[in-house]
Amino acid sequence: MDAALIIADACFDGERHRPEPTSILIEDGCITQMASGVLSTGTASTVARVPFAMPGLMEAHCHLFLDGDETDQAIRADHLRKPFEGLLATAHRSLEQLQAAGITAIRDAGDAHGVNTAIKTELTTSTAYAPDMLSAGLAIRRAKRYGAFLGVETTGLEDLPRVLAQVAPTADFIKIMLSGIIDFESGTVKGAPQFDVAEATLIQETAQRLGGRTAAHISGLDGLKVATEAGLNTIEHGFFMTREILAVMRDKQIAWVPTFMPVHFQWAYPEYCGWNEATVGQLRRILDNHDEHLVAAYDMGVPVVAGSDAGSYGSPHGRSLVEDLVLMSRTGAPLEKILASATSVPRGLWGLPSANLAVGAEANVLCLAGSPFRNVEYVRQPRALYHRGWRFGAPVAERRRETVAAAAS
Ligand SMILES: [Zn+2]
Repeated sequence: MDAALIIADACFDGERHRPEPTSILIEDGCITQMASGVLSTGTASTVARVPFAMPGLMEAHCHLFLDGDETDQAIRADHLRKPFEGLLATAHRSLEQLQAAGITAIRDAGDAHGVNTAIKTELTTSTAYAPDMLSAGLAIRRAKRYGAFLGVETTGLEDLPRVLAQVAPTADFIKIMLSGIIDFESGTVKGAPQFDVAEATLIQETAQRLGGRTAAHISGLDGLKVATEAGLNTIEHGFFMTREILAVMRDKQIAWVPTFMPVHFQWAYPEYCGWNEATVGQLRRILDNHDEHLVAAYDMGVPVVAGSDAGSYGSPHGRSLVEDLVLMSRTGAPLEKILASATSVPRGLWGLPSANLAVGAEANVLCLAGSPFRNVEYVRQPRALYHRGWRFGAPVAERRRETVAAAAS
C-alpha cells in the first residue's frame, strides 16, 4: 500500500483556515486520517513536513487552445489559423502549466475548434494523470457578433433549437456569448446584448431539460439584466456589476466568475496595447467597480467562483488563476471565502468530487511554501501536489522512512 503523511504547519481545509499543525495521512490516493498535531509516521513510506496545505485549485474559466503567454497580437491572430494538431499541442502545454500552478480541476469556456472536447476525451480515457475537467465544447454567439473563435453562430429564436442540438452533446455546460467585449477607451461595452430574454430563457430551459447548466459571457448592465432575468447559471466576467444585479444573483443563486486578470493586465501594462493616460483611467475605474462588487458579492451571499480567462490576452494558464486570487484578496474580501471560490464552491456547484481536506475524501492536496493567511503571495509558490494516487513536485522537507529505505536496498 502506498502511504504518505503530510504534516502541515497550518492548512485551509476547503472551508476554514486551521492555523494549528495538522497531519494528513494519504493511503492509496485517499485521505484516511487527519488530525491536529503531529501524527506518528505509522505505515507512511513518505513523510513531508510542509508550511501549508490546502485543496488543489480549480481554474473555472480558461481556454486551453489559446496561448496566454503570447502578447503579440499578430502572432495571436496567426495562432487561430493553425491546424488542429497545432492547437492541440498548445492545449497540452496549457494543461502542464495549470498542473504546475497546483490546479486539479479546470473548466474550459469554449473553443470553435473542439480542442477542449478532444482534451476531455483524452483525459477521461487516459491512464496518465488527469485533472477533473468540465468543458463547454462550442460556445454559441449571435451571427456576426463577437466570439467567432469560441464557437458557432445562430440567427436567433427560431434557429436556436438547431444550434443547441449541435452544441449540447459535447457541452458539460452551454456557454453563450451574451455581450461583446469592453471598449476600454470609452469604458463601455460595445453593442446591445447578443440575445434577448426570450432567447436566453430558451437556452436556459434547454440546458436544464438536458440536465446541464449555462454560462454567459457578459459585461455591461444591459447583458447582466438579460442573464439574470433568464436565470442563466453563471455570469462570466460581469464587468460593470451593480448591487441590484448582485441581489438577483443571490436570490437565484447565480454564480459569478469575475476574471480579473485580462483587464488587470491592460491596466498594469498599458504599453502592450498603447493605452494613453485617459484609457488607463477608464481601466482603473472598471477595476475599482469590480473590486467593490466582489466584496459586496461575498457579503450578500452570491456564489463567487475564481477563474482567470486563461489563454486570453495577458492571461497565461496556471499563473493567472493564482494572480486572480491575489487580486481578489487585495479587495479586502475574506481570504477563506476567496480560497473556497477556487476549491469547495465550484466543485460543490458543479458536482465535481470534493477536494476538501477531510477523512474519506480522495487526496487532493496542494502544499505551499508558506501560509497565504500570513502573506497571500504564497499562493504563487506551490511545492507539491497530491491528487488521487499521483504526486508532483518536491515537498519542502521530505524523508523516506529508514525502514522502507532499508527494505528497498
Ligand atoms: Zn473566456
